Amino acid sequence: LVAPSALFGASRPNSAGFDLTDEETLSRIYAARELAIPDAMPLTVSEPTGRMQDVLNPATGENIAKVLMVDAATATRAIDDARIWDAPAAERAEVLRRAADLYEQHYGAIFAILAREGGKALPDAVAELREAVDFLRYYATEGETCTDAPRGIWGAISPWNFPLAIFTGQIAAALMAGNAVIAKPAEHTPVIAARAVALLHQAGVPKAALQLLPGRGSVVGTALTSDPRVAGLVFTGSTATAQTIARTMAANLAPGTPLIAETGGLNAMIVDSTALPEQAVRDIVNSAFRSAGQRCSALRCLYVQEDIAPHLITMIKGAMDELRLGDPWDLATDVGPVIDPAAQGEIADYIAANAGRILHRLAVPSPGCFIPPTMLQVSGINDLEREVFGPVLHVATFRGEQLDQVIADINARGFGLTFGLHTRIDSRVQEVSDAIHAGNIYVNRNQIGAVVGSQPFGGEGLSGTGPKAGGPRYVPRFFAPATASASV
Ligand code: GLU
Repeated sequence: LVAPSALFGASRPNSAGFDLTDEETLSRIYAARELAIPDAMPLTVSEPTGRMQDVLNPATGENIAKVLMVDAATATRAIDDARIWDAPAAERAEVLRRAADLYEQHYGAIFAILAREGGKALPDAVAELREAVDFLRYYATEGETCTDAPRGIWGAISPWNFPLAIFTGQIAAALMAGNAVIAKPAEHTPVIAARAVALLHQAGVPKAALQLLPGRGSVVGTALTSDPRVAGLVFTGSTATAQTIARTMAANLAPGTPLIAETGGLNAMIVDSTALPEQAVRDIVNSAFRSAGQRCSALRCLYVQEDIAPHLITMIKGAMDELRLGDPWDLATDVGPVIDPAAQGEIADYIAANAGRILHRLAVPSPGCFIPPTMLQVSGINDLEREVFGPVLHVATFRGEQLDQVIADINARGFGLTFGLHTRIDSRVQEVSDAIHAGNIYVNRNQIGAVVGSQPFGGEGLSGTGPKAGGPRYVPRFFAPATASASV
């Protein structure tokens, strides 16, 4: 094994995080609960037009803000206004580091918005702020010695499940390469995006180099993927949306315009009969149910070796019973709501359609968009029609001699994001890791929460294009290739 510092340089980017057992920190976080959420989003584009939309708290249904969802004409004006960030790389790095410090200083407001707008349980909000800060510092360091040219205007389209971290990571990488960025946040989470952009501007990012465009995918997303002035697109979201984006770009943008896409997964974990049951159960429950299963890295299909299956499944049920659902802002909460009533309905319908397979499920608090963590019995990954983006774990059993077939079945689905393995057979670690097609393979641990700088995150196949976020190849992708001007 190679030490991460040998791969990624000695300077560790990671944020210090927050100690939720410290009374003073906690009281400062709780004081932020009352922070007013601004009524209007500060947009840089002149005279934005569009339609006002309510932003709702998924745990309570409370209306927390109104946002202007801009129209196509406004998106075009933002592209007119965009200017690359023409400052030396060292200065850009300094500004991003300043932004990281500002993010950390504004943690109270950030946690409050993540909880109220995104339904993030407090420990998940803490992890998300850390990741956002890590992206800023890591990409600053990665980009500051690059002398290549920017590509121009990048569209950045980000998801609601990491509305601060992924939003910030996309922007930071594109800015570190000197580009102009037009960021379209997810429709559910414009408030945290507006706060992040305000902090980036306060740190010194020029307004013409970073613009925020809240709006619908079909309007703003389409504008960004079909205006020939756009030089690159970075996207995290569903595989289907990535495919639509790729088609729209191919029809409208210059040939070779890069698309960096991070998409879905049907992530599996294999637990063989030599695994440590207590450790496996803890990692299974975290991987499947933390963030209410709304991570593209989350565990969807668990394979347990037959010999230990009855015992392990009983232990998983016990661990599920310990999970607390409820107010994301309550420290005792493990599982918050799913993002909106539509998601809740869709997941509930899926569970109802599979009612005969339920091995275990929890009771649900009401009201609010809650889905009870649920465990379904399946014969294998081929029983999963699609990625269900919520707290639903599918469990299959296998006999020792079926291991190769299990791996073949997992690979055959064509995704390749995360994979988990619990075993105490050393040679198996190597064999299975070699055979599985997945961007991130985790052995004897959970399979969520990749750490910037030491666990670059991203998949292959239907799960994404690469390069991996939080890894050394990411920022270089945002520059124009050094040979491009010479060869044309
Ligand atoms: N980077 C996150 C993780 O490792 C997942 C990102 C996502 O779900 O979009 O859990």
